[in-house]
Amino acid sequence: MPVTAYDKVGSGGDPGGPAFINGRKYVILVYGSGDTMHEAMYAEAMENGAAVCRLCPHHCMRKDGKLGLCGARMNHGGQFVSLNYGRVTSLGMDPVEKKPLRRFMPGTMTLSAGSFGCNLACPYCQNHSIAHGSVESRYVPPQEMARLAAKQDVPSLSFTYNEPLVGYEWVYDAARMAKEAGIKVILVTNGYVERKPLAQLLPYVDAMNIDLKAFTEETYRTVCRGSLEPVKRTIAEAAKTCHVEVTCLLVTGMHTEEELTEMFDWLAGVDRELPLHLSRYFPRHRYEEPPTDLVWMERMGRIAGERLSYVYLGNV
Ligand code: SF4
Repeated sequence: MPVTAYDKVGSGGDPGGPAFINGRKYVILVYGSGDTMHEAMYAEAMENGAAVCRLCPHHCMRKDGKLGLCGARMNHGGQFVSLNYGRVTSLGMDPVEKKPLRRFMPGTMTLSAGSFGCNLACPYCQNHSIAHGSVESRYVPPQEMARLAAKQDVPSLSFTYNEPLVGYEWVYDAARMAKEAGIKVILVTNGYVERKPLAQLLPYVDAMNIDLKAFTEETYRTVCRGSLEPVKRTIAEAAKTCHVEVTCLLVTGMHTEEELTEMFDWLAGVDRELPLHLSRYFPRHRYEEPPTDLVWMERMGRIAGERLSYVYLGNV
């Protein structure tokens, strides 16, 4: 594809503005307005113009013109397409510890990119505007991510902020190119993905932080509109091939001690060296319970620490 324009992408809410990220200047090559639709992987055409997406366990079946649950894929003319291929809504440099990853390349910075869309619907979402809202974006081709990370001497590239796996095609392309350029690849994800697409992507991923939102099917189903088992499978599969850390946001009123103890036991069964982040919740979006009680949080931290080697309390 020919280069049609040089442009600049700023950090945060000003994608057309000066390209300064944490005080450093960046110039990003973009290709005009970019593809607005990209053929979706893991999708099939059905009869009568319908199509099904099998990227995540929702298996959305949609008629022509209808969006999937994630808001990032739709049936367009009888085929599923990705709407967020290269559509970057946020771009910034973060310490890798902010992902959070505490035991992967500590002390380094990571180039972090987010798009839009999410396949869960947590009422306390901490990133709602890019998960399910509408935000401005600019097209950044996958090769540009690796080029930018290499040029700025950043050792890793993180797909984060929204749920990266609902933009699977761009993440897959950019991750492969980053690996070729010797850049490490990090995913910050809810882990709600089918087995095959995960297996196809894992060879290009060096580290993941995976959210484990609860440890009951009922909470996943009624609160987040997902299910627990696929997330457990993602954690177990990813831990075989790359560095994995797990985050559980301790949302006031959502977990019991018994449930969390079961979660810690299960994680220790996967690998007791697997780092666990217990994060403090603050009211956001549609959830108004007070912030997590710190004394209870510390107690959960102690119970986790009896089972796992590395437990971190976050947002405290
Ligand atoms: S990735 Fe999106 S469109 Fe595909 S099944 Fe999941 S929610 Fe539905």
